[in-house]
Amino acid sequence: METLREASLYRPRNGLLECLVCERRCRIPPGKRGYCRTRANRDGKLYTLVYGDISAMESRPIEIKPFFHFYPGSSAMTFSTWGCNMACPWCQNWHLSRRAAEPARANYVSPGSMVEAAIRGGDRGVCASFQEPALLFEYLLDVFKLAREKGLYSCAVSNGYMTEKALEKLGEAGMDAIKIDIKGDAEVYKKHLGGLDAGVVWRNAEKARDMGLHVEMVNLIVTGVNDSPEQIRGLVVEHLERLGPWVPLHFTRYFPAYRFTASPTQVSVLEKAYTTAREMGVQYPYVGNLPGHRYENTYCHGCGKLLIEREGYRLKRYKVTHEKKCPFCGAEIPLVA
Ligand code: SF4
Repeated sequence: METLREASLYRPRNGLLECLVCERRCRIPPGKRGYCRTRANRDGKLYTLVYGDISAMESRPIEIKPFFHFYPGSSAMTFSTWGCNMACPWCQNWHLSRRAAEPARANYVSPGSMVEAAIRGGDRGVCASFQEPALLFEYLLDVFKLAREKGLYSCAVSNGYMTEKALEKLGEAGMDAIKIDIKGDAEVYKKHLGGLDAGVVWRNAEKARDMGLHVEMVNLIVTGVNDSPEQIRGLVVEHLERLGPWVPLHFTRYFPAYRFTASPTQVSVLEKAYTTAREMGVQYPYVGNLPGHRYENTYCHGCGKLLIEREGYRLKRYKVTHEKKCPFCGAEIPLVA
């Protein structure tokens, strides 16, 4: 089976196989799968079951990820497999993330075909998204390498829970940018995500930035989970301490999904999060899932003038110069284009 390949990051440990792709570091007994159900111990070797098993694939605007400071206005061939290493009760893509990989029914797309599809469709890059990209680890190493050879960018939309080794390897393979979801403070991870460690996510965001990757952070504000002013202030403090003022911070609107039925995030909560971040020193905060809202636009940090106007996921106006400067005051705008 094409989608069944020996995994590249694991080690034997007390008769089990320890998967080293994400910080769950599952110790998998013979014949069993890890938590995400994409990796299996078979005859003393760890296998990925999802190499190139593509659950969804389409050309999408980069703004939808959201990346607002990375090739604005471009599109990327966006793809995913099955499963996830987290189980957010409000998952918006649960039909992909909660399904176990089934190698016998795989939809195999080779790395070459993926990159070809991007080129044919006029995309500037490729992007692993929808469920946790790290589960496609071995496949991404091949796709990203090929994409770079063909002059395309590579990016991922991640929950940031991979191991440092996995992140390093993805960077070496050609990953240019990563959007990382931070779900909230330690309490949110403890209560809603089975005790996972928020510190790992910040560590990886910092590491990605230090590796020279373009990083943007996203906080989905979920009603009754992480929407108090104290939680939002705490998140902004952490963002500034770990990543500084120039890494964009998006606050996106939650809608009921999967097992979560609380009402959608109030617009006033998102607006307050934006102004809090701005006042505390984040130079490029945004709101998301509020099409046409003024806080989805980019304003110069120097003079406050409107530089990029967005409508939904499309650009309506783009005024940043070729030198990536504000045409009004000359400030350098931190974006990759
Ligand atoms: S990638 Fe999957 S199998 Fe590996 S440690 Fe993470 S959850 Fe476990």
